Amino acid sequence: MAPVIYPTTNLTATEQLCLDRGEGIYVFDTDGNRYIEGLAGLWCTSLGYSNQELVDAIAGQLGKLPFTHMFGGKTHEPAMELANRLADMVPIEDPYFFFGNSGSDANDSHIKMLRYYFNAIGKPQKRKIITRDRGYHGVTVAAGALTSLPANLAHFDAPVEALDILRTASPHYYTGRQGNETETQFVDRILDELKQQILSEGPDTIAAMIVEPITGASGVIVPPEGYYEKLQDLLRQHDILVWSDEVICGFGRTGNDFGATTMGIKPDLMTFAKQLSSAYFPISAAVIPGWMYEAMIEPSNQVGVFGHGYTYSGHPAACAAALKTLEIYERDKIFEHAATVGDYLQAQLRERFSDHPLVGEVRGKGLIAALELVANKTTGQGFDGAVAGGFAMKACERNGLILRAVAGNSVALCPPLIITQSQVDDMLDSLSKGLEETWDHVRAEG
Ligand code: PLP
Repeated sequence: MAPVIYPTTNLTATEQLCLDRGEGIYVFDTDGNRYIEGLAGLWCTSLGYSNQELVDAIAGQLGKLPFTHMFGGKTHEPAMELANRLADMVPIEDPYFFFGNSGSDANDSHIKMLRYYFNAIGKPQKRKIITRDRGYHGVTVAAGALTSLPANLAHFDAPVEALDILRTASPHYYTGRQGNETETQFVDRILDELKQQILSEGPDTIAAMIVEPITGASGVIVPPEGYYEKLQDLLRQHDILVWSDEVICGFGRTGNDFGATTMGIKPDLMTFAKQLSSAYFPISAAVIPGWMYEAMIEPSNQVGVFGHGYTYSGHPAACAAALKTLEIYERDKIFEHAATVGDYLQAQLRERFSDHPLVGEVRGKGLIAALELVANKTTGQGFDGAVAGGFAMKACERNGLILRAVAGNSVALCPPLIITQSQVDDMLDSLSKGLEETWDHVRAEG
């Protein structure tokens, strides 16, 4: 078998889990074993597997017009309809949409649009972007520079300085608090540090700050109460735009339409991918407000053509997949369902796992959650290396549950939004067995 390069995998082909098909919240391997897809693929298959309506919508579009590009005055109905549909949903006034293929490229597009916009209005120095430690925003060269996870940043010589990217503290109280700091003291301290950074860099050199409302890939971090309110006050005071990366949180994941709604963020810019099409076809969107677009196309601006776009920007089949996904979300009240089942998941996780000797913190909102596995529950001290997280992931897999170890020793759950309460119970039964095996392993290893 020809080898395939994929990150963080040093398993041989026979050691890898080879999936064959899916149905609802379940996937089956090539030996016929069934697993609950507890991470919705990679935080994305919101409507689960084998959704025939999505398959038909995509096939219908492929049969009608499989491709047209969106350059030089061309467009097509699915793209226009999708932009209209999204415009009714997003909390941005008079929004404009740039379609791409992945979360990474949507974030790259925003970096370019910000540069282009500030050049167009004669403020070329306003180009820095603030990102947070433990933020994950993708892996292309620019989005990779916004990302702060060591494995995605180290070894690649990401052009962090060239791109004028500034880093600030992650709002993770559990791992970031100092001494007996309360949550409020912690928030005030990290935001004061950010304020000093903004002042020393010069507010007129900073374009925007990117945030995942709840960070996903770096451990499902839910910032403390009050954090976003204070953060936005600070950014607005200094004329810095708020950019919500909704690639994981968008479309029902946190129990609302967007993570921004759940966390009280009023974004100027947004990026989407993943659940926009329930991952049935790759598509992303970078959203800007009308006032920004108007300035970009103003004929008197001296910048020239906005020369950016991908061959597959607004791919017709991707737009058809997204349109059908949004239709199902609305028709089947998927966000409301996610809110109800999400509350149940969060309550059950706390009830069943808070006292587990391996679990330092249970966190999450809606249908996204993580357990932080620690070496010492009393002090919260973590493990050296990803020893518990990696083991737990494989142990859960042996017990019929696919989840993901993130940021070392956190195990993340993010099931399809269609999961039912009784399926949540099954998922947590498998998690429980996986954790018991992990606990035995950790004790045996000393
Ligand atoms: N932004 C966030 C918050 C993500 O979680 C991800 C991927 O997980 C990305 C951006 C990058 O998306 P993609 O993998 O589609 O490039």
